[in-house]
Amino acid sequence: MAVAAFVLAAMAALPTAEAGAMPSSCGRASAKLYRVRVQVQKGLKTTVPAFASDVMNVLCYEKSWVASGKVRYRYDPKGPYVVKLLSPGATEERCQQLTGLSVHHYYSCASRAHKEAVLNSDRWFGGSAYWPGTVAAYRRLLVNHEFGHVLGQHHRSCPGSRKLAPVMQQQSKGLNGCKANRWPLGYELRSLSP
Ligand SMILES: [Zn+2]
Repeated sequence: MAVAAFVLAAMAALPTAEAGAMPSSCGRASAKLYRVRVQVQKGLKTTVPAFASDVMNVLCYEKSWVASGKVRYRYDPKGPYVVKLLSPGATEERCQQLTGLSVHHYYSCASRAHKEAVLNSDRWFGGSAYWPGTVAAYRRLLVNHEFGHVLGQHHRSCPGSRKLAPVMQQQSKGLNGCKANRWPLGYELRSLSP
């Protein structure tokens, strides 16, 4: 019972609203620490502080990977982990460098080895044709999916018609009968080995 109470107390510190003031750190003290910074390509319609706040709000939300209890985050402008917001052209180029694959100027990518997630600005600002919800909700999928790769997660398939899509399903390419979902599912959280 003492353990359960501790878990509840630790989790109570996580933001329960999907947006708000930027959480500068979050997660259980015993979890693996990820020091995260952001980068925004010049000319895009946001700022480093605004994008940092958006990213940290997703990473620290109580239903994101941090819910596993295995990871924690701290915003650090000198941190080794980076989430970049790049134009479609720059995303294509960087993703080729990171993964050797084309994102067709459309998708985003990430590399665990390079400690880097690259978000395509067209998807960030415009969402996806397959996403039935708001752009704000789609951004949460984008951060959770790409940072999921940074945490060592690989792609997953739709488990069955009308089931919730795993956050690691490539939902920007279609839902395959699954329901859109922006949070890691229980079995995804349990599989995390950061
Ligand atoms: Zn992916």
